[in-house]
Amino acid sequence: MSTILSVYNLGKNYVSAGRNLTVLHDVTFSVEERSMVSIVGPSGSGKTTLLGLCAGLDRASKGSIELNGVSLNGLNEDARARIRNQYTGFIFQNFQLLPTLTALENVLVPLELRGLKNVRPKALDLLDKVGLADRSHHYPVQLSGGEQQRVAIARAFSNDPRILFADEPTGNLDTTTSERIIRLIFDLNREMGTTLIMVTHDMELAARTGRVIRMRGGSIYSDEPMVS
Ligand code: ADP
Repeated sequence: MSTILSVYNLGKNYVSAGRNLTVLHDVTFSVEERSMVSIVGPSGSGKTTLLGLCAGLDRASKGSIELNGVSLNGLNEDARARIRNQYTGFIFQNFQLLPTLTALENVLVPLELRGLKNVRPKALDLLDKVGLADRSHHYPVQLSGGEQQRVAIARAFSNDPRILFADEPTGNLDTTTSERIIRLIFDLNREMGTTLIMVTHDMELAARTGRVIRMRGGSIYSDEPMVS
């Protein structure tokens, strides 16, 4: 197994209302390719901040991140966006589909950003995989929460990500829909050999990923394999 993500002594400060707030302190961990990892912890413990830094959505204040062998240190937003589009997929709690685009067009966005041609068949195939072949021309507002999240999953997998980040992907869904969404993420992950890093508050779900990183007050306080 090789390492796909290495995080070393990571720190993040925010300046808020004139005050300097340290929300991550010296976070160090690494993730093996094709593995599944959950990040859990109380609200405000820094989970979303950590996930966003690892995915290149934001810039660290200190420390280093290496994603698929590429260092994110010191990269500006454009360079981070390129790396994100090349190697990562991201699933948000509130789906974050573009409201003026259809389901199909939302899935096409990452492919078109990469300048790829003839990508409609691939996007349609992904929508079929998530069970939404018949909804490809619907707009987000015409879809249920579970359907919107399935479109977001198809979009996240559209550029064949090496690593998929998911931030509370079932947080806004009922229990039955959540289970369907999680199975879909796990199945696609296995099928495509993607690495998964997921923030969740659901301990039962976390236990299903094989490894759980617990955070408290901006630091990791335990990092354990789960024995099922
Ligand atoms: P979690 O995901 O565990 O709930 P977050 O990473 O969202 O935690 O937040 C960690 C801390 O950072 C919280 O105290 C939050 O208020 C603060 N925080 C997050 N984003 C910002 C921001 N953009 N500006 C200022 N403070 C922030």
